[in-house]
Amino acid sequence: MEKKQFKAESKRLLHMMINSIYSQREIFLRELISNASDAIDKIYYKALTDESLRFDKDQYYIKVAADKENRILKISDTGIGMTKEELENNLGVIAKSGSLAFKNENELKDGHEIIGQFGVGFYSAFMAADHVTVISKALGHNEAYKWESEGADGYMIEPCEKDATGTEIMLKIKENTEDENYDEFLEEYRLKAIIKKHSDFIRYPIKMDVTGRRLKEGSENEYENYTEEQVINSMVPIWRKNKKELTVEDYEKFYAEKHYGFDKPIKHLHINVDGTIRYNAILYIPENIPFDYYTKEYEKGLELYSNGVLIMDKCGDLLPDHFSFVKGMVDSEDLSLNISREMLQHDRQLKLIAKNISKKIKSELQSLLKNDRDQYAEFFNTFGRQLKYGVYSDFGAHKEELQDLLMFYSSKEKKMVTLDEYISRMPKDQKYIYYASGESHERIERLPQTELVAEKGYEILYFTDDIDEFAIRMLMTYKEKEFKSVSSGDLGIETDEKEKAESTENEHKELFDYMKNVLSDKVKDVKVSKRLKTHPVCLSSDGDLTIEMEKILNAMPD
Ligand code: ADP
Ligand code: MG
Repeated sequence: MEKKQFKAESKRLLHMMINSIYSQREIFLRELISNASDAIDKIYYKALTDESLRFDKDQYYIKVAADKENRILKISDTGIGMTKEELENNLGVIAKSGSLAFKNENELKDGHEIIGQFGVGFYSAFMAADHVTVISKALGHNEAYKWESEGADGYMIEPCEKDATGTEIMLKIKENTEDENYDEFLEEYRLKAIIKKHSDFIRYPIKMDVTGRRLKEGSENEYENYTEEQVINSMVPIWRKNKKELTVEDYEKFYAEKHYGFDKPIKHLHINVDGTIRYNAILYIPENIPFDYYTKEYEKGLELYSNGVLIMDKCGDLLPDHFSFVKGMVDSEDLSLNISREMLQHDRQLKLIAKNISKKIKSELQSLLKNDRDQYAEFFNTFGRQLKYGVYSDFGAHKEELQDLLMFYSSKEKKMVTLDEYISRMPKDQKYIYYASGESHERIERLPQTELVAEKGYEILYFTDDIDEFAIRMLMTYKEKEFKSVSSGDLGIETDEKEKAESTENEHKELFDYMKNVLSDKVKDVKVSKRLKTHPVCLSSDGDLTIEMEKILNAMPD
């Protein structure tokens, strides 16, 4: 039998591919700039081993220029260029990546920055352009070639003139249609914004001629138009810089530039991990609560970069829910991306990074607690509820991790204290960690149930948040001490009143029976209390739920 090759309707295939891979059209610019950066990187790597080559950083750049009138967007680079064969192979064969081949040939493993690997990014140009021209002159060659294509119909290659080594890509930007706007790709401010967003940390300068209006020199009221070449990208990402060279202001500036929040972060973490998984991250603990924080609209997540190229705006998988207030970014070269480079193929690396990040955040919070208690208390005031939810959620899976970070108001200290502090102050005869639930501190203080515990001199934690008691129930114990509500039946406090109470109850049996009868649909039992001091009566529970919890559960919609 004869083996046949598949035939493909390349026109349709190309169209389908381009339009189904990428979720945003502006991505084409990221792809072309990434290619240009790769082309410069290749000279850089070649120069490492080839003595006849010098890598003089100033010579290498990427330039983006828009010609509105002719609807041409030009992206040029001073990179390694392409020979005629390379133009055919790399741009003429879909899914062929010269960059991947380069990495393999040169056995670049560690520290390489080359981005390309799938051999499709270039074609994303056809999302914005209906005609693409590439003029390229390869390093060490005298002749230049022009590659031209209108997309699916194929391409043409012919010799042409070009002075310097490198590549120029000219896109004839599509005309606007009723529903689609393409003009934006010729607008200076949009191009700048797109470059900033997706390619800010490309290692080589991305230049653009920027026009503006300014006061004429020496004049106070005469203005002039000017055009000047500007570098749009910041190039060296702050997270690759040496921590020692960075100031708090640098981190704050990055926070503001990235619009992580309008406040100032109370803490930043700069993480460089170089182990089984490699990543850099800059994380922030914000000062203020985002306005939508406790709503469904709030979306947690960190920015995710692969080799300095933005992959995802908000990668939720990088943060556990209890740390959802953390802002920042992660950059890793170890991620395996899917073809659109917008998603990850496997989440194994991501999981490892997330786990590691979570640990770092926890220890940062712990050190804040240790070194700046006031600020920690403020932090807890803002985001503590989320930590308590964290203890309660996922059936207590994170309780060990979070218990040391919790704080509650103390009857004795009259301020927020940690469980550890509570324990360390416990008298020897105290068996439990006591707490009282109520709407406010004042209300709790007026609870008759607190009297005996307070009289014994024991500290009581005040639970005023709905979640408090649920979280504590999930913890059950802290350092082997059980939690006990002051309104629970047995407080575990020895009193000499026990016998007295029994005899009183017997003496007035009729009265108690009568009260039980009258209140039969409201209470389970009426007993002589051993804990009341100044109040005549109080409510207590002896089931699993405390009265406060019952109230909350009853208030919840069915
Ligand atoms: P990838 O970047 O994933 O390899 P692309 O479709 O973006 O795929 O590019 C295909 C190939 O074309 C690249 O691997 C590279 O060999 C070549 N190429 C693209 N743009 C340039 C450029 N500006 N300079 C040199 N080579 C380029
Ligand atoms: Mg590419």
